[in-house]
Amino acid sequence: MIKTLITIALWALGGWLLGAWLGATTGWAIFALGLLLMVLVSGLQLSRVARWVHDIDEPPPLSVGPWDEVLAPIYRKLKQNRLDLQERSRNFHRALLAAEALPDGALTLAPDKSLLWCNQTAAGHLGLNLDQDRGHSILNVLRAPEFARYANQDTWDRPLILHLGRGHQARTLMLHLAPYGTGQFLMVTRDITQIERLENIRKDFVANVSHEMRTPLTVLSGFVETLLDMPAGALSEEQQRHYLELMAQQAHNMQALVADLLTLSSLESTPNSEGASVHLAALIRTALDQARALSGGQHRFITHLDDGLGILGKDTELASAISNLLTNAVRYTPPGGAITITWEQQPDGNAIYSVQDTGIGIDSDDIPRLTERFFRVNRGRSRETGGTGLGLAIAKHVALRHDARLDISSTLGEGSTFSIVFPATRTRRTDITEPDSSSRAA
Ligand code: ADP
Repeated sequence: MIKTLITIALWALGGWLLGAWLGATTGWAIFALGLLLMVLVSGLQLSRVARWVHDIDEPPPLSVGPWDEVLAPIYRKLKQNRLDLQERSRNFHRALLAAEALPDGALTLAPDKSLLWCNQTAAGHLGLNLDQDRGHSILNVLRAPEFARYANQDTWDRPLILHLGRGHQARTLMLHLAPYGTGQFLMVTRDITQIERLENIRKDFVANVSHEMRTPLTVLSGFVETLLDMPAGALSEEQQRHYLELMAQQAHNMQALVADLLTLSSLESTPNSEGASVHLAALIRTALDQARALSGGQHRFITHLDDGLGILGKDTELASAISNLLTNAVRYTPPGGAITITWEQQPDGNAIYSVQDTGIGIDSDDIPRLTERFFRVNRGRSRETGGTGLGLAIAKHVALRHDARLDISSTLGEGSTFSIVFPATRTRRTDITEPDSSSRAA
């Protein structure tokens, strides 16, 4: 303002001096010309400013005089605001990315519990579609009555465990609501289906092991008490021997169970390594000796073993799987039956160890459950022959640790074939050849 007044005063002084020299008319004309020039310059600046307003991100037009005093601070302020806005938007994006990267689901709700935002994980857990469900009450989206009761509480000290879906689709979610900001809510969701399943397996396992241990222990302690209560010499030597044999059988069952439990636990606790090249035919022959001893000459054994075919793996684990399939064949094949053992490479390069028997066979409904821990088709028969119910679970575990699969085919009353199929990548050719690598019967 002062600058404008000074400019007017300077023009007035110029006009007065020239008026005194050249006449009053000339003086007034100079003064009027000065004012006119000032108005024109202002008009020009105004039109430049008007153009700049449409393109405000650019620096303001070069201005002279009072315009500069107005435009420069406006432009500085605008620039600062723009930088602040960019920084805030960067922070907001960082927060959004962090929320997306959370391993848990997160969603925010307005005070009326309508959906404001959710990350991908929460959308997956609750089947939400942010574009469609934003603004809708979460109670309409998630219709489980227990969730409605939970959401309508005043405080949420504990999370809610929610079971959704059925069968293969069944999932267990843990949801936790917490108030935040001005009346809004944050809900965290976590899929605990797997954790719950493992917890159930653990509980069942402990119950099964206790049950399996209790049976032989009860029998054993029953005999011990009976023997203790008997007056000396009440039993004949033959009776005593009979009782002791029954007790030894129960003790042996417990030992076998503990041994299988230890094998399973070591399979679960040791890392899965490639191991070394294992001469499988040699392991099979060792297992065959045990099987023959178990059979007591009551079965016919036929072998087709490729001695030059090795496998990359862990010999102790493989020996356990090989012997489990072989002893099962003996235990579930009535005397006079035949057991055929094959170890060979298939045309596709895979290697197969198979044990085929002419035994009692298995109902097709039971086949999928055979590798479950402690599953037995006939509990009595399994126990009588010293079974623990863990042999096939171990064999399957060993197969998986060697990238192999356990195949089972069986016909009730006719016999079964149990095979472990190793991928070609695990096979190794060795120079070892033994004289009996061709088919033989024993
Ligand atoms: P078990 O110690 O009871 O034999 P396994 O895990 O080795 O436990 O086998 C589980 C069940 O599978 C057995 O109880 C038996 O019912 C069935 N089974 C296994 N092998 C054979 C086979 N060769 N023939 C018939 N049934 C078998």
